[in-house]
Amino acid sequence: MGTCTALLLARKGADVTLYEARPQILLGASRWNEGKIHLGYLYSGDASLQTAKQIITGGLQFRPLIEQIIGTTLNDITQEDDLYLVHRDSVVTPDHVNQYFGNLTRLLHDHPDKEKYWGSITSTKTERLSRVELEKLSNPEYVDAGFVSPERSVCTQSIADSLSAAVYAEPGIEVRTSSKVLGAKRFDESTGLSYLVETTSDAEKFFHVVNCLWEGRPKVDASIGVNNLSQPSLRYRCSLFVETSRQIKVPSAVICTGPFGDIKSYNPKKFYLSWYESGLVTSTTDVLNAVSPSLSDTEKGAISETTLTSIGSVIPASRRLMEASTRISVEGGWVFANGRGLLSDPNSSLHRRDQVGIHRTGNWYSVDTGKYSMAPWLALHVSHEILGN
Ligand SMILES: Cc1cc2nc3c(=O)[nH]c(=O)nc-3n(C[C@H](O)[C@H](O)[C@H](O)COP(=O)(O)OP(=O)(O)OC[C@H]3O[C@@H](n4cnc5c(N)ncnc54)[C@H](O)[C@@H]3O)c2cc1C
Repeated sequence: MGTCTALLLARKGADVTLYEARPQILLGASRWNEGKIHLGYLYSGDASLQTAKQIITGGLQFRPLIEQIIGTTLNDITQEDDLYLVHRDSVVTPDHVNQYFGNLTRLLHDHPDKEKYWGSITSTKTERLSRVELEKLSNPEYVDAGFVSPERSVCTQSIADSLSAAVYAEPGIEVRTSSKVLGAKRFDESTGLSYLVETTSDAEKFFHVVNCLWEGRPKVDASIGVNNLSQPSLRYRCSLFVETSRQIKVPSAVICTGPFGDIKSYNPKKFYLSWYESGLVTSTTDVLNAVSPSLSDTEKGAISETTLTSIGSVIPASRRLMEASTRISVEGGWVFANGRGLLSDPNSSLHRRDQVGIHRTGNWYSVDTGKYSMAPWLALHVSHEILGN
């Protein structure tokens, strides 16, 4: 969110300072996630479709916007329709998923941006798999039903590298790394429209501030009296980023709906695997004081082993990745949500993302991206608001 916003502003002539607490930009959640460009299918736990309505436009516009921002075409993208496999312990039944997908697909077919996504989402039917198709893909002991969705996922490390290169090539952006934002004060009390931002390395006055610090956002907002939180939580999740020496065919699938897992094939030699309970390193509701965990090699090894075993027991084809793997990186990031509870609880507010977006107070913009797929679209909105166009 920060790099996209900085690039869009600087290219229109604004002087931008980008603060980053870590030694390099783009080492957080936006480098290490699954890269699903959401169209709402994951949120069958929110039958009201409010979450889907909140995130669909960002998902549909993601591809053209990010390609414009990084100045190149995206390559590592899942090539086949994403499968949703309904786990026997899902918080919603297969019939509910069937109905939800039908409602969502109708919403997508009426959307003005429907042609901007990969392929034609209007020609994809969100079909239920036959029993034979399902049993070819998954273990019937765990999976009750399967559905096809038009969603795609992108390799987020490639995009992080391209974004980073674009930021450093842009003369209008001054990047201050190893510079943690501690808080801010209103600078001009008469108008309240400029801010003194204090960091571990300096304090500087800005006319506009975009707070898109993700896990660090609530604390910095609180320092200036901004509070747009309702029951917030932070979870630190790790996943496996796998490369293989030879081409392996595995499906791209989500095991839904609840604390299960995912597998993605960005190309035949590059994969993502996650199993929720194996990769959930820590979670807290104390969002003002969360500290990023540092994992030993032994802990990473345990996450890798349990993730591979768990995914392998539901999607047997994924076991082939182990023999051919040349690299398995266990990496992760924070997930912020205005929601709490357990994914195994159908009433948990974690099944919703309907409050995400831009919260403006004066010239202070606090942005909860909610999803990676939302960042370019939200960045475009913030930049338009700041530039007044
Ligand atoms: C395992 C996992 C899987 C996910 N899968 C998906 C998915 O498939 N699709 C999807 O859309 N979303 C997914 N997400 C969510 C997605 O990763 C986030 O919504 C998105 O990356 C957040 O982007 P951001 O720019 O807001 O935050 P970030 O990319 O985290 O950027 C925030 C930056 O601020 C820096 N920072 C924090 N505090 C401070 C401070 N005080 N001072 C200075 N710098 C600071 C951080 O170091 C970081 O570089 C997933 C997340 C995880 C962890």
